[in-house]
Amino acid sequence: MPDFDVIIVGARVAGSLTAALLGERGWRVLLLDRATFPSDTLSTHFFREPAMLAFRRAGVWDDVQAVGAPLLVNMFNDVDGVTFTEPVEAQQGFNYVLCIRRVVLDEILVRRARREPSVTLLEGAAVRALLREGSRVAGVQFTHSDREQEATARVVVGADGFRSVVARTVEPPVEHSARVHRAMYYGYFASLGPMEPPAAEHHFRGNELVYVIPCDGGLTLLAITVPIAEFPAWKQDGRRLFLERLRARPHLAPRLERAEWVGRLYGAGDIPCFMRVPSGQGWVLVGDAGLIMDPWHARGIEQASNHAVFLADALHRWLAGEASWETAMAEYHAARNAFSEKPYRRTYTNAPDFRPMLRAALQRRGLLPASAGA
Ligand SMILES: Cc1cc2nc3c(=O)[nH]c(=O)nc-3n(C[C@H](O)[C@H](O)[C@H](O)COP(=O)(O)OP(=O)(O)OC[C@H]3O[C@@H](n4cnc5c(N)ncnc54)[C@H](O)[C@@H]3O)c2cc1C
Repeated sequence: MPDFDVIIVGARVAGSLTAALLGERGWRVLLLDRATFPSDTLSTHFFREPAMLAFRRAGVWDDVQAVGAPLLVNMFNDVDGVTFTEPVEAQQGFNYVLCIRRVVLDEILVRRARREPSVTLLEGAAVRALLREGSRVAGVQFTHSDREQEATARVVVGADGFRSVVARTVEPPVEHSARVHRAMYYGYFASLGPMEPPAAEHHFRGNELVYVIPCDGGLTLLAITVPIAEFPAWKQDGRRLFLERLRARPHLAPRLERAEWVGRLYGAGDIPCFMRVPSGQGWVLVGDAGLIMDPWHARGIEQASNHAVFLADALHRWLAGEASWETAMAEYHAARNAFSEKPYRRTYTNAPDFRPMLRAALQRRGLLPASAGA
């Protein structure tokens, strides 16, 4: 008899939600993360209604709302000097978007998983290798409190991000991939005057986008995505370039003068796009471990949270004997791909160059200057 029904490696969006949803159905889950929470991670944190629905489904929505982050009811866009503000389209009761720092959001998700008596959370537990029975994955080896340990389960879930040790070990087939096209940098500012009513702002210049997103803690997240060819220069001189590019945005520059940069500059230039086949004998991948997109589109949290809901439903059916492993995993795979295909395609198609997408957006709104129509 295995020690657990399910072992989950990684306890952020994908892992904690999968654990919570399995735990509430009584399944014995071991949830491992090498981090100790509350813990930050390299990620901006802007999300829309699909993430909110998954949070509601997983029983964390009240806690997410209680953070008190501004409800961003408008989207402001500046596309090379052409500006337009639109209300966030109301979807299933949500007519706003939210931005909550990961150190706060992930702690809420971990706390939710911890609430389930059948979920055992081990923090500071780094998974080193997978255990096998024949060709089937049957458990994990991990280090915890300086001790090498092992645990077995009916299935091991890799919710361990895009550098997933589970994926690296099982080597799943790749359904689609696209190389890295962009780098993203971000930081937090205090006293940056918001728009009224609060808006999520997108300031495009050519193939470069600055995001201005009021978040929790009275801060505003400022981020920029640039073509990957610029990454070497940013690694050398990121702070100067960041301020220079922010100051070049006319609707941002005057507000920036009165604002205070809090903390440091964060950046990443190694995020690809890929979709992996998400399951095999004794293992399954969820969240970034199975499907990742360039962060310019800010879709990762909604993807990981919804994939967790699909996976927990499928695993429950299998564990309860209502579906074979093959059927349950085919259902999960189909649900994941149906949910993700459109945003995934949009993300990798536009990652190399925003300009065709922007021209089309202006055209749809009748805002394209005649001289730019070609
Ligand atoms: C620069 C940047 C900006 C982004 N901005 C946004 C945004 O604005 N909006 C949005 O929706 N998404 C954004 N994303 C994407 C988002 O961060 C991810 O899609 C999301 O975090 C995926 O969640 P996850 O739970 O799958 O994986 P992760 O958040 O990566 O969590 C994986 C966890 O696994 C643990 N782990 C890994 N290996 C091991 C191991 N061997 N043993 C134990 N534990 C392990 C890690 O410690 C980590 O806690 C951004 C990403 C980046 C890089």
